[in-house]
Amino acid sequence: MHLNLFVSQSCFVHCKGCYSFSREEKKGKTVSTEKIISFLQFVYNTGCRKVTLCGGDPLTRKDIVDLLEKIKSIGFKISLDTVGSPIIKNIVSDKGILIEKIDAKKIAILVDVIGIPIDGSTNDIFRRFRQTNTDIVNEQLAICEELHKFGANICINTVAHKGNLEDAFNLAKLIKKLDYIHKWQIFQYEPLGKYGLRNRELFEITDKQFLNFQSTVLKVFNNDISKLQFKSSHNRKNAYMLIDNSGNAWIPALENMSLSEYSYILNDNVIIGNITNQDDWCKICSYLDRDFYQKT
Ligand code: SF4
Repeated sequence: MHLNLFVSQSCFVHCKGCYSFSREEKKGKTVSTEKIISFLQFVYNTGCRKVTLCGGDPLTRKDIVDLLEKIKSIGFKISLDTVGSPIIKNIVSDKGILIEKIDAKKIAILVDVIGIPIDGSTNDIFRRFRQTNTDIVNEQLAICEELHKFGANICINTVAHKGNLEDAFNLAKLIKKLDYIHKWQIFQYEPLGKYGLRNRELFEITDKQFLNFQSTVLKVFNNDISKLQFKSSHNRKNAYMLIDNSGNAWIPALENMSLSEYSYILNDNVIIGNITNQDDWCKICSYLDRDFYQKT
């Protein structure tokens, strides 16, 4: 099971179908860098060598570069999921905080795989899911180019949903042109998180529709799957553990969680432990992948 660590609550866009659980946590929750690092040092010693930082958007965290440096110095292979906006400009986050342009070279060096979202070949289609007033397609392409300049490993992340099904062909053509990317991951939309559930009828697609999206992409890529990864809802079941901004560790899975009106109910039966409590670390780590013998 893969470790996903939330390191912020804010973001640069307002996704109508936001699948992040950070949006329903009590505002202002965060685990200090010191506590995260103590926990991760323990995790690393148990043999888990990979971590994904997510949020919100990790680049909205004030000390993100310091946090990345410390995680890297432990030895982790780091994936970072971000909209990426501060790679190219100063930007104000949804919490009204100014985030200054970040050193793209530093991010490219510290992060092993940087996930950048592109969900549509036009601004109109893109904005059906990720709401923003900016020229979002060109911005995302500029972010990729900037990261590429410094040799970053870029993974494009696309959510396949009701609003972009008909765009599969044009989107695949657009991504195919980015021949320097490391990977293109396509996720079947899942009604996770407060907004993901509330707006599920706008976005949810059937397994068959996801397969159609997949076969259109494959056609454009001439069945070369070397850079493609299709992640259906089924594939992702019990595949990852979340550590939220309150430090709670849990596994999003319908079979062991009940749904409230808009989201999963997170209670003591679901929470495996809290990373701010050292007594919980062994139990939390018992769920994680060990990759002692893999090169990091
Ligand atoms: S889905 Fe991701 S990018 Fe969109 S608002 Fe939520 S955290 Fe931000």
